[in-house]
Amino acid sequence: SKKHRVAIVGSGNWGTTIAKVVGENVQENPDLFEQEVRMWVFEEEYSIPKNSKHYDAGSSLCTKPHKLTELINGLHENVKYLPGIALPQNIVAHPDLATAVQDATILVFNLPHQFIAKTCQSIVGKIVPYARGISCIKGVAVNDSGCELFSESIGRELGIYCGALSGANIANEVAQEKWSETTVAYDPPKMDSKHPSPVGTPHASSLDLTQLNGAEPESKKLKTSGPKLQPLPSEFPPLHHANMKKLFHRPYFHVRMVHDVAGVSLGGALKNVVALAAGWVDGLGWGDNAKAAVMRVGIMEEVRFGKAFFSASTRTETFTEESCGVADLITSCSGGRNFRCAKMSVAEGKSIDEIEARELNGQKLQGTSTAHEVYAFLKKEGREREFPLFTAVRNILEGVNEPKDIPDLIEEGQREM
Ligand code: NAD
Ligand code: 13P
Repeated sequence: SKKHRVAIVGSGNWGTTIAKVVGENVQENPDLFEQEVRMWVFEEEYSIPKNSKHYDAGSSLCTKPHKLTELINGLHENVKYLPGIALPQNIVAHPDLATAVQDATILVFNLPHQFIAKTCQSIVGKIVPYARGISCIKGVAVNDSGCELFSESIGRELGIYCGALSGANIANEVAQEKWSETTVAYDPPKMDSKHPSPVGTPHASSLDLTQLNGAEPESKKLKTSGPKLQPLPSEFPPLHHANMKKLFHRPYFHVRMVHDVAGVSLGGALKNVVALAAGWVDGLGWGDNAKAAVMRVGIMEEVRFGKAFFSASTRTETFTEESCGVADLITSCSGGRNFRCAKMSVAEGKSIDEIEARELNGQKLQGTSTAHEVYAFLKKEGREREFPLFTAVRNILEGVNEPKDIPDLIEEGQREM
């Protein structure tokens, strides 16, 4: 029988960490997975810094900039985005995306959300038609037709089924093998070769709920024509929860498998907006009570958003009981990049974009653009007043309000509800 080939699309701080996790797991499950894991790298030139353990003044590797893929493959370390962490030797960095995804039956998408649309467009028709995806992206895709999850937009663009992985997972901690939990949502519609499902078919659980509720939202209506989702050929090991878990679960990275793809995706996306507000109140020196108040309202708005716009499939428990919900909110408001940069921006009186560029060495904040995207969507729906914290974060980024206004904006929003 055949084995699954896994490709990682993206190689930033989290992308490289997940590549490490997957690289280790394919070695432990040689009956299920091919041993080589290709990781697509958005190519750039990089000079090894003098404080790197790889720096050697006498070596040509250090005297001039090199391609990042060459450095990763030569040193088995992503010296720019995950310095100091040894990668398994079966991770192979590729600068060409089509080569990286070629023949892969499992595609793990892990890059800042602003780059995903273009990245997917460039591999349309170049992937295995029965491939399955997992999105590790924290963000939402807002366009004229509404607010989509990345699992949905990737699936639609590539004609594949895509689930989601998200959790309380500061990448550097996971990379150092400090214990954490994560949530993987995988819920493909049932299909067989005689009855392939149309592309754009909702996740199985949303189908079931839709049928139970009797009400089918416009965005989730079953398409009856167009391309069909391809069933996985029977020579491959099945991709059920147990085998998906084998790809991601590590002794230091505990996976809980669920069906709620929307809840998992939204928790990861929306907490980045909340983390900015937490950073601002902390930067004002207001202490832990203020931060906890922001987090309380944040989780409430996450649940409200899920119920308002993804009611067919989200479960409140995904936000309140799983790593991708409340736990991610807590860790992100404690030590995440959005939190840290927002805090510094208030403490130093500088714009968050300036702090991002200075502090992150090319890593990308997701909360700032997500705040704008979520607000644009809420405004279009005429429902921004139901989300006073999300709206406050956008208005503070725009200079309409200031961080010190947060308590009043929340209070006002609650009075109006
Ligand atoms: P990152 O913040 O390290 O971003 C840098 C990456 O973006 C690099 O790989 C860079 O090559 C790439 N890039 C830059 N310009 C590009 C372009 N034009 N096209 C394509 N790629 C380009 O990325 P990350 O931390 O791996 O984040 C990926 C996703 O994972 C995000 O949605 C993030 O929210 C989520 N996430 C991050 C963490 C974390 O702690 N870093 C943890 C969990 C989830
Ligand atoms: P930041 O992008 O704010 O660092 O958050 C990381 C994260 O998603 C932790 O789960």
